[in-house]
Parts: sequence; C-alpha cells; structure tokens
Amino acid sequence: MDDFYAARSGLIPPLPWSTFSPPFSDPASSDPSREAIFFQRLEVLSGFDAARQLWESPQMQAANISGGRWGGVQGSDPGSGSQAWSMLTHMNGRPMPKGGSGMVSTSLGRFIEAHQGTVLTNMPVVALMIEDGRCTGVECADGSRFRGRKGVVSTIHVKHLMQMAPSDLWGQAFTDSVEVWQPEMAMFAFHFALKGSPEYPLAGGGSVTGAEASIMERPESIFKLNEDNARGELTLEDYPLQIVHAAGYDRSRAPDGFSLLKIEGGMPYALKEGPEHWDAIKDEVADQVLDRYLRYTPNLTRENVLARVIMSPIDIERMNPAMWRGSVHHLDKRWGNFAPYRMPIPGLYQTGACTAPGGSVTGQPGRNAAIAILEDDGKTLAEVVGRG
Ligand SMILES: Cc1cc2nc3c(=O)[nH]c(=O)nc-3n(C[C@H](O)[C@H](O)[C@H](O)COP(=O)(O)OP(=O)(O)OC[C@H]3O[C@@H](n4cnc5c(N)ncnc54)[C@H](O)[C@@H]3O)c2cc1C
Repeated sequence: MDDFYAARSGLIPPLPWSTFSPPFSDPASSDPSREAIFFQRLEVLSGFDAARQLWESPQMQAANISGGRWGGVQGSDPGSGSQAWSMLTHMNGRPMPKGGSGMVSTSLGRFIEAHQGTVLTNMPVVALMIEDGRCTGVECADGSRFRGRKGVVSTIHVKHLMQMAPSDLWGQAFTDSVEVWQPEMAMFAFHFALKGSPEYPLAGGGSVTGAEASIMERPESIFKLNEDNARGELTLEDYPLQIVHAAGYDRSRAPDGFSLLKIEGGMPYALKEGPEHWDAIKDEVADQVLDRYLRYTPNLTRENVLARVIMSPIDIERMNPAMWRGSVHHLDKRWGNFAPYRMPIPGLYQTGACTAPGGSVTGQPGRNAAIAILEDDGKTLAEVVGRG
C-alpha cells in the first residue's frame, strides 16, 4: 500500500494537476533563477490573480484563464496560477488523432485483436468474482463471467467498483480515502454539423481560423462557475468556452464545404432541480451558447447548422459511467488522492483516470499500472516492450 496516495518511485511521477508548466529552471535547485522563483510564486495563486500580475490587458487575462480551464480546474481557485500563461502551451499546438479522439481507442483495440486478444464492448461489469479473498474475474450484466488467469485490470470508476465486492475487502483506509473524492466541474459538449466553417474576423481586417479557440470576455467571469455550482444555477453570459473545429485541418471528418463544431466547457451537474433537469433545458442552453458563439463568427448563422448532438453533464455520465457526475477526468485530480495501481483486493489492479496522474489522454496511468502489473508477474516493462 506504499503507492496509496501517489505514484510509486520509479514510475512516472504525477503531473501537477494543471499541466501548464513554465519553461524555466527548477525552482528546487540550489540556485533557482529569478524567473523560476517568480513563476513558482505565481503558481500558488489563483489563475485570476496570477494573470493580473502578468498581463495588463483584460483580454489577455481572460484568454489565458479561459484556455487554462481546459484542464478541468477553474482559474478562480488557489493553486491554479499557472493557467495565467496557458496560451504559451496552446501556441505550441495540441496533437489530435486523425478521425477524432475515438481513433486512439479504435487503434488500440485493433492492436489487441492483431495479437490474438478479444475486445468485447457493451458488456457492463456488475460484480467482481472473489475466490479466497482474491479477485479472479468479472461478472457482466447479462450474467456472463470472465476469469482472469493472472488478475483483473479495471478502469471502472472506483466509486462504482467498490459496490462490486464486499465492503470489508477494501480496507478502512482505502474506503475513507475514496469517500472524500470530489467530482470536478462537470463538462458539457455541444456538437454541430455546419455548412461552411468558422472564421474569426481580425481587428485589422481579414479573418483567422484554427483547430481550437477559447472564449471568455471578462477575466472575473471565471468566478461564476464555482458559485453557480454551489447553487445549482446557470449564468450563461460569459462562462469559458472551449471551441473545437478540427475538421478545418482534418478533412477526413467532413465533406468539402462542410465542417464540425464542438462547443464544450464546464457547467454545474447538480442543478437545484436535480441533474435530470438537464434533459428539460439542454436544448435551450445549447441554443443560448451557440448564439453567443456565433457573435464571434459573422460568416455563420444558425442557418448554417445542419444537425446537432447536445450532451449535457448528465448525458456525459450516461454515455460513460466512469465520468462520474460529469467529471471527464473522473474526479477532481488536484489533490493527488488517487487509487493505487495495486488495489486492496489481491489480483485486482486499477488504471486510468482514477489513478495517478489522473485523467486526460496521456497514457501515463496505463504505463504506470503496466509497470506494477508486470512487476508482480516477475517482469519489467523494458523486457516486454524493449525499452523502459
Ligand atoms: C467531451 C470531452 C472532451 C474531452 N477533451 C479532452 C481533451 O481535449 N484532452 C484530454 O486529454 N482529455 C479530454 N477529455 C478527457 C478524457 O477523455 C478522459 O480524461 C480520458 O478518456 C480518461 O481515460 P480513461 O481510460 O481513464 O477512462 P475513460 O476514457 O473514461 O474510459 C473508461 C471506460 O470504462 C467503461 N466502463 C465504465 N464503467 C464500466 C463498467 N461497469 N463495466 C464495463 N465498462 C465500464 C466506460 O464505458 C469507458 O469505456 C475529454 C472528455 C470529454 C467527455
């Protein structure tokens, strides 16, 4: 249980929950640079306060805080200071799989099948098979059972996994630790198929486009999210929006003359009327968010929208129960309170966003879990994949 709260030494260390680190020397070194000390001190502030130190222009403050929220935490919160320079990261660009993020899973599935593995989908696991105190397999909703020769590896959300075996097997310390897990601000994702593609006018004339954009008018708007989350209310005027229109670059996604638009961001999951109230209001919320977005793209109107798929925070959880309460990173990953790769029940391993260093598409939890699993099987990663 030495890996209970953090990654084991020798594994990839957890990233800071905000992945935007400044490109300066290590402040822990014996002779840190002036810049390193300055940025280290900025990091412990909120993104809002740090942005006001760095930028005179409210537009640059808002742009960085808005883009900083993509990592799941709002820049109103202490410790989110590095969001104040999130645009530095975004200027480097972000890798996107051709065909969309789903192609990562599809390709991994093909790799498994090409190596005599089997991938079964639409098979919800409802129980862990326990024999002599050891996890030996899983039982699915249709009653089918699958036995693991050496063990079982889970990416089921740990809050759900713990319902799948007797409570006394998890141990009190682990149970207490998971009890206090908090969801992060829930996510919404509104998808639109468009005739034409978005263009943003430039102040000096002409226009610009891009694979992603971030919108928030006023830096102080970031404070609305926590207040609304506490109240279960929505204030739609100026929430930070993440705009994705990768079809402009990846022409495999839409025919010529057409494009795709995704507007996403954080909104409260638990509305004061209950999370199911999202079903009643999501189309109207999406209309308002779309209208707000269209103010920035005068070449488009609602007439350009051919079809849409509107996913509210509760829809995201319904799509994938591991996105507990709409947390696409499975939980608020700031506090380093992750599940261990070796779970308290022998033979059961956990990977994915509930383990260090948390959610996002990094591959790091998988790699770390593989190291632990191989170690228990008397092997090393280097032996199996040819490098460490
Ligand atoms: C709209 C949206 C946009 C995002 N944008 C980004 C981004 O730009 N960059 C980024 O890095 N990350 C992004 N993310 C977050 C990212 O997708 C997640 O952090 C990541 O997928 C977590 O990976 P994972 O393998 O741990 O779990 P998941 O991808 O959540 O996979 C868990 C799997 O377990 C399955 N499962 C759950 N319960 C059971 C059960 N009982 N039985 C069987 N199967 C079960 C689920 O169906 C799912 O297939 C986004 C997420 C969403 C929803």
